[in-house]
Amino acid sequence: MKPLILNFLDLSTPEGSFARREPDEALIRVDNLGITRGDGIFETAGVIEGVPLALEAHLARFARSASMLDLPEPNLDLWRRVVVDTAHQMADAGVLTGVKFCMTRGIEGEVSAPTGWALGFIADDPTAVRRDGIDVVKLDRGFRHDVAETSPWLLQGAKTLSYAVNKSVLREAERRGATDVIFTSTDGYILEGPSSSLVARIDGVYVTPPPSMGILPGTTQGDIFTCLERRGLATRVDAVKVADLDRADGVWLCSSTRGAAPVRTIDGNAVPLDHAATELINGDLDARRS
Ligand code: PLP
Repeated sequence: MKPLILNFLDLSTPEGSFARREPDEALIRVDNLGITRGDGIFETAGVIEGVPLALEAHLARFARSASMLDLPEPNLDLWRRVVVDTAHQMADAGVLTGVKFCMTRGIEGEVSAPTGWALGFIADDPTAVRRDGIDVVKLDRGFRHDVAETSPWLLQGAKTLSYAVNKSVLREAERRGATDVIFTSTDGYILEGPSSSLVARIDGVYVTPPPSMGILPGTTQGDIFTCLERRGLATRVDAVKVADLDRADGVWLCSSTRGAAPVRTIDGNAVPLDHAATELINGDLDARRS
């Protein structure tokens, strides 16, 4: 990820505003709760030709995360404008870019406005991952599948700035000879990746677990299902047991910056790679312009 364009927001008034700053400028105080507690939320939208993809779905999820954290309701008109502006300024970057937009609770110990910014960046090239596939391991997330219902204060399913765990699991994957992770619940359900949604093809149906299981509603997964359905292919949002995944003849980890990354091994066991399906899905994703 290479930072390119920064817009910094002033959220001290209900309407708010934003202004262009330099990505390497010092703008955040060291007592900002986003830094000291990871107390805030974020979104990362993919950008093609200066157009942010799945923008409305990202904004909706941003508002959902804010609500789960009892943060002030974001002015979505302002956030829409700042993301569009940031993306637009990268129209000539010529590669897959992205916009990461963040809102923290503001300054610790003060009744302060939230802090917000939108950072435009050049994304890692997903070509090799999409072609060759990824090796993943299943790791226990330590919660039951119904954690969002039983313990909403754990914020499972909110896209918070507390992503240290989402990064530590990648180091554990590396120790086990893999590069990515599928989280499982303590009671035997498949959940999601640390920065991706899981889509599996089981008995001819493309299936993904429901957000009610304490996972993020994936914007990429949503667009994939829309495209598959348009092509007459069967999709279902449903619980996936760990044992069900053994029957899958295709598994993908899907996210805004990578698209659909096919899984080639899970815990060292080969998973069939359907290159045609992967190309079709990513072709549809790359053809989006909204
Ligand atoms: N699940 C988690 C935990 C994520 O962090 C992400 C994205 O970063 C996703 C799923 C996929 O979401 P999207 O397709 O909107 O990028």
